[in-house]
Amino acid sequence: MNLKEHIRVIPDFPQPGIRFKDITTLLNNGPVYKEVIDHLAQRYRDSGIDLVAGPEARGFVIGAPLAYALGVGFVPIRKSGKLPGETIEVGYDLEYGKDKLAIHKDAIRPGQRVLIADDLLATGGTIASTLQLIRQLGGDVVGATFLIELSYLNGREKLGGIEIESLVQY
Ligand code: 5GP
Repeated sequence: MNLKEHIRVIPDFPQPGIRFKDITTLLNNGPVYKEVIDHLAQRYRDSGIDLVAGPEARGFVIGAPLAYALGVGFVPIRKSGKLPGETIEVGYDLEYGKDKLAIHKDAIRPGQRVLIADDLLATGGTIASTLQLIRQLGGDVVGATFLIELSYLNGREKLGGIEIESLVQY
């Protein structure tokens, strides 16, 4: 499958100079969406994963169906102020902005094996913070998986040590 055919590139969104990779066109296509999730599930089926964690919002549309397919739990990583229970938080930089991410304190037990899932790896800021949150709770990060990697931004370098996989690269 050529995934790039299903990803729409929108120039100058959300600000001038950024070529936004829009995955809504991929999500809109049932067989392609299913093939992507089935492929990831196949890849991680024997990795002994206890939980999949995904940052909002597009991490949910990859991470939650992947967790379901693997028969494991899903942990939402959210922007500050959105989760109702007790949380820990960490600040992070985006390719275009700054924010804080949060996780429920009781979402991960020490030693649980966690796979991180998101739609796209850009500068790595989001995932570096996600990693930090999971590790603060004692989770063991097994790897991080993405549909898309913007290789020219070298996000991998921020995530030293963990296994990173992406289905397509720009
Ligand atoms: P990073 O923190 O690696 O710089 O940025 C990655 C985060 O920003 C991901 O959660 C991703 O959803 C979002 N993001 C940044 N650029 C794009 C883009 O071009 N397309 C999509 N779909 N998401 C993006």
